[in-house]
Amino acid sequence: MIRALSFAGRSVAVFGLGISGTPTVKSLLAGGARVAAWDDSEKSREAAKAAGLPVVDLNGIDFTAFDALILAPGVPLTHPAPHWTVLKAQAAGIEIIGDIEIFARERKGNEPFIAITGTNGKSTTTALITHLLRHMGLDVQMGGNIGTAVLALEPSAPDRFHVIEMSSFQIDLTPTLQPTVGVLLNVTPDHIDRHGTFEHYAAIKARLIEGAEAMVIGLDDAITCDVAEHMLEYRRLYPFTTAATGKFPPRMFAEGTKLFVLDEFSAEVADLASAPNLRGRHNVQNALAALTAIRALHDRLAALGSKIEVWRPAELAAGLATFPGLVHRMEDVGSVGRVRFINDSKATNADSTDKALAAFGRDIFWILGGKAKDGGIDDLKTYFPGIAKAYLIGAASDQFANTLEGRVAYERSVTLDVAVAHAARDAVAHAAVNPEAQPIVLLSPACASYDQFRSFEHRGDVFRDLVATLQGHRPKGQAK
Ligand code: ADP
Repeated sequence: MIRALSFAGRSVAVFGLGISGTPTVKSLLAGGARVAAWDDSEKSREAAKAAGLPVVDLNGIDFTAFDALILAPGVPLTHPAPHWTVLKAQAAGIEIIGDIEIFARERKGNEPFIAITGTNGKSTTTALITHLLRHMGLDVQMGGNIGTAVLALEPSAPDRFHVIEMSSFQIDLTPTLQPTVGVLLNVTPDHIDRHGTFEHYAAIKARLIEGAEAMVIGLDDAITCDVAEHMLEYRRLYPFTTAATGKFPPRMFAEGTKLFVLDEFSAEVADLASAPNLRGRHNVQNALAALTAIRALHDRLAALGSKIEVWRPAELAAGLATFPGLVHRMEDVGSVGRVRFINDSKATNADSTDKALAAFGRDIFWILGGKAKDGGIDDLKTYFPGIAKAYLIGAASDQFANTLEGRVAYERSVTLDVAVAHAARDAVAHAAVNPEAQPIVLLSPACASYDQFRSFEHRGDVFRDLVATLQGHRPKGQAK
């Protein structure tokens, strides 16, 4: 745990007692702060009380009594409307920050810190950077928006690498973010409800790299290109692109699945054809981001006089090949005969599902639906010829049936258990009559899960369990 010494002897209000709030309170207490913790949910308050945290009703308190409000990232700071604690803190003129700001303040020197953001691919890239550094035997702490809350990690140290995923909400609450390396993967419209306008959202994402000592930025979309162009005068800019050419020279680029670094000459670093869990164009982007971040880190470490060398191409290539992937993101959950089952429950919008459909291409038995996002699945029409049949579940069924009508065979399965049973039956039959086919039963819902499940994780876990009970099921890696 990181002790928040920067708040020793000060009074702090903490609102939001979920995944990050509880470690925040513990960290502040361990650092010697006086803490008043609160949550709108009684269940969270009871859990916090049971854990011995100082739960105090913030409703009745004048916030001038506090030096700061520490807000959980899930609580609205600006949109759709500021939370009541935000209004009280603003009226009292106290700072409003998040747990990663506390981490940033505790990191006093040049201890290596890589921060990653983007609309899509944050977790994969964060996990991949962590995997690659660990593969080289380095001490890595991974957390933030993935896995462990940042203040529950071990503290910064000269030979310890913090690899931290950040959502736009977390960046919004981290005014003095100055990572050794900042990674901005991509920016596409998402979460507009929480940030007002797309411009505001894009500006927050760009802030992550603005304060970074080395800026790693993807050149594959208009917004990030624009950000990069404004930063061209900085020598510490490390652009990368999945295309071989672009507006200005990247430090890393791809040709198909091959990844190249561009120094004086270009040199191939790795080929993702030998990385089974980094399939698809989107993972070319994620792998390039990870390698470019490590390249930038290497240069920063050298500039700081560190003896640690992290740019070791042969080891990086080997590390990419052994990356295990993340659960719920195109996760292979086994097979029945030649039919493979893929859990892509994390695909909560059409943009994410696009990646899975593109990666598998054809003979897809597609399970989709849930709580639809704006635009539905209209943008996925180019993939429809590769879909053998679609299985609709959840609230979006009518809307999606309209889009599929006359274009793709579909059924209204309603629930996931029915969809899995029917898709498995149909895919096995398809394999029997098409000896060349490699059918895929793909759960990639293009929807939020809340109408039928607690979370996308819950939805993916149920899918994995259902697949495991199918007759003839073989776990991953044991396909016929
Ligand atoms: P995040 O943490 O940003 O939500 P993840 O790494 O968890 O991203 O990936 C979530 C989903 O987003 C994946 O299942 C995939 O469909 C899609 N995805 C992953 N990487 C990218 C990328 N670089 N560009 C676009 N989509 C991506």
